[in-house]
Amino acid sequence: MSWPPTGVRRAESLANHTSFRIGGPAEWFAEPSTVEDLIALLRSAAHRDTPVSVIGGGTNSLVADRGIHGLVLRLGRGFRMVEPLSDAQDDHARVRCGAAVVTQRLVSLACQHGWGDLEALAGLPGQVGGAVVMNAQNIGQFVERLTLVSLGGDVEQLTSAQMQFAYRYTALKPGIITDVMFRFPRAPVGVSADRIHQALCRRNDSQETRLPSAGCAFKNPPGTSAGRLIDQAGLKGTRIGDARVSGRHANFIVNVGQATCDDVVSLMEHIQRRVVQRFGVRLEPEVRLFGERWDHV
Ligand SMILES: Cc1cc2nc3c(=O)[nH]c(=O)nc-3n(C[C@H](O)[C@H](O)[C@H](O)COP(=O)(O)OP(=O)(O)OC[C@H]3O[C@@H](n4cnc5c(N)ncnc54)[C@H](O)[C@@H]3O)c2cc1C
Repeated sequence: MSWPPTGVRRAESLANHTSFRIGGPAEWFAEPSTVEDLIALLRSAAHRDTPVSVIGGGTNSLVADRGIHGLVLRLGRGFRMVEPLSDAQDDHARVRCGAAVVTQRLVSLACQHGWGDLEALAGLPGQVGGAVVMNAQNIGQFVERLTLVSLGGDVEQLTSAQMQFAYRYTALKPGIITDVMFRFPRAPVGVSADRIHQALCRRNDSQETRLPSAGCAFKNPPGTSAGRLIDQAGLKGTRIGDARVSGRHANFIVNVGQATCDDVVSLMEHIQRRVVQRFGVRLEPEVRLFGERWDHV
């Protein structure tokens, strides 16, 4: 098998593919458009022992300044379909959704079609595949099953039970989610749209949306909020390089200019030390770290 296969690019900047706007290059980068292309790429990479990483919207990801060794995949066009599979009179809506669908498109469709209980997803950045991996806003409660292509190129169907969804956790084995079957309760169209609109307003009031970030840096420890602990440790506004603890939401680290990954990691380590000293609680990163230099966080 010759390398690189058609369409694989060299030294693609990952800062352009993450909401943090931080990160060095992917050694190799590709956006397969079909499942067949994806499988061919994975088999080709496996054949030459090239490590594979996957990125979705890049809104929960922090990439090392030195970049990522190996092949980084981002699903392309053919993974952006949304296919409602039930009739309007069915009591639940079943919807098959490509993993590269922007989560907000799903939310807009919920407003139009009266799919209920999606308000927690209103304003959530990123793509459906990334949201499922992170179980962002408990999206797992709607997942019936999904398709996973293993790093060796084998296609498998997984049920929701196999995913073991929990707070910001899934038991996903290494591979790439290509599509997800959702099951949503029905809600009257106007009601669903109203709730989504209100949720969006609450999010815009409480979260930091104006500066580049990856959302919450740390998971909430049991029974408390990471943001509250960071705030009470007096860390709002603390800055290392161009990485700063948001003054609006203490669990957001924002890039106020040319922040590097090292700036962010150093700030995260500083936060962890101060919160341990003050409260005896060790904060665990929520943001996914790609590349080298993660021994401490
Ligand atoms: C302003 C802001 C607000 C946010 N608010 C919230 C919030 O309220 N709640 C919340 O939970 N999160 C929040 N986040 C974090 C983030 O938006 C979510 O976790 C989001 O669902 C991640 O989706 P993504 O496509 O960007 O994932 P990425 O960052 O691209 O990837 C996340 C992980 O999923 C993996 N992955 C991505 N796609 C696939 C795939 N197809 N197959 C297999 N693995 C894959 C990646 O390898 C990585 O490990 C926020 C982020 C920002 C910037």
